[in-house]
Amino acid sequence: MSEVLVLGAGMVGVTTALSLQARGHDVTIIDRNAPGRETSYGNAGLIQTEAVEPYAMPLAPGSLLQIALGRGYDVKWNIPGLLSQAGAVLTYARNSLPAAHRRASKTWGKLIRQSTERHEPLVAASGADNIIRRNGYIELHRTQAKLDKARGVVERFKTEFGVESTLLDSAQLRALEPSIKVDIAGATHWSDAWNCSDPGALVAAYAALFQKNGGRILNGDAGDLHRKGAAWVADEAQAEHAVVALGPWSPMLLGRFGLKVPMVYKRGYHRHYHMDVPPQHPIADFGNSVVLSPMRRGLRIATAAELTRNPRLTPPQLRHGEEAAKELFDIGAPVEAEPWTGRRPCMPDMLPVVGRVPDQPNLWAHFGHGHQGFTLGPVTSEILADELDGGQGWAELAPGRLKR
Ligand SMILES: Cc1cc2nc3c(=O)[nH]c(=O)nc-3n(C[C@H](O)[C@H](O)[C@H](O)COP(=O)(O)OP(=O)(O)OC[C@H]3O[C@@H](n4cnc5c(N)ncnc54)[C@H](O)[C@@H]3O)c2cc1C
Repeated sequence: MSEVLVLGAGMVGVTTALSLQARGHDVTIIDRNAPGRETSYGNAGLIQTEAVEPYAMPLAPGSLLQIALGRGYDVKWNIPGLLSQAGAVLTYARNSLPAAHRRASKTWGKLIRQSTERHEPLVAASGADNIIRRNGYIELHRTQAKLDKARGVVERFKTEFGVESTLLDSAQLRALEPSIKVDIAGATHWSDAWNCSDPGALVAAYAALFQKNGGRILNGDAGDLHRKGAAWVADEAQAEHAVVALGPWSPMLLGRFGLKVPMVYKRGYHRHYHMDVPPQHPIADFGNSVVLSPMRRGLRIATAAELTRNPRLTPPQLRHGEEAAKELFDIGAPVEAEPWTGRRPCMPDMLPVVGRVPDQPNLWAHFGHGHQGFTLGPVTSEILADELDGGQGWAELAPGRLKR
């Protein structure tokens, strides 16, 4: 049994703490905020089993031109935002080429396919069943050509990864989601994924479970992490091991310990809207670069990626998403005065960083889950906890790869 400090109480930090605690370790979490109030609060709430390939950068000449000209809503950027992460973005683009992307997908697919079975016992033990729906989500295909293309994806994912889904024509979609007002060519119902109606509350429930089982959560700053003899010290706590699970803030801390972390920060926004008859499932309208998730607070419109240092008050991606949502549904006024914003912590090779930090005894890294950290927290937590207990870890995820 060891004493472990976990820095960060997002989905990744809290599930790390739970995995270590289940193995008998004495664990303390430190966060400057309450659990699940940052990136793990603001996501679209999908616990995905079908996202077997990590999110590649769109590289087709037409898509690149659109992005460069600032048209389209999938990726927006501005010069300071791009320059501040240009190296990482370029590497991400290189790794989006087919051979490298296939390599990453082999590892990614194995992780994603474990997601619901890793969440299941935590949902049960934390009493969070009331905010989990196990009915999948719906990806719209607005044209026949897109629907035809989707058939190939559905078949490939089923054969290669065992992903369950149903392709729906317009009438079947209408039957499944009567609140959609317009005719849509069709959709994919990714039926074995889950979704959560309050992502922040799920992290909070997992954190409460950790505390009920004897874990400690300290409200404090992890930024001053330092060594004192053989121990790691942060704020008022100290322990033999420390795990950095600070999501998009991880690179800042690890730089001090000799690990230069190239990260692509994909900013996203969301806002809730009042709705009398919400959809039964989250609706992914990728053609308009949004996911529309029915949440406890209303319909959450979550946007795609923006490469920018400073958030905008009226983001064009959200404005566009609102128009797309209005076309599909009768939505009411926004719930909040301003949109929420946060940054997806994306690694240029599209794989999370999980394992021992080189040259720093008993310092561990656990971050960089990109578009799917809410899904993958409990999966990679098991990998990290196993390595801390003397297991091999996964070489493809090891922090040492960043030193090469
Ligand atoms: C718009 C959007 C939609 C998304 N949709 C999905 C989705 O549907 N499904 C999915 O799986 N993923 C989704 N994601 C991605 C997912 O939200 C992230 O990958 C995940 O939340 C990352 O979790 P984390 O625990 O690593 O980071 P965070 O949740 O950000 O946690 C980091 C923690 O570190 C703390 N911290 C930082 N610095 C300090 C410090 N100095 N001292 C103390 N504490 C500190 C913060 O307070 C925070 O609690 C989405 C992301 C966005 C932005």
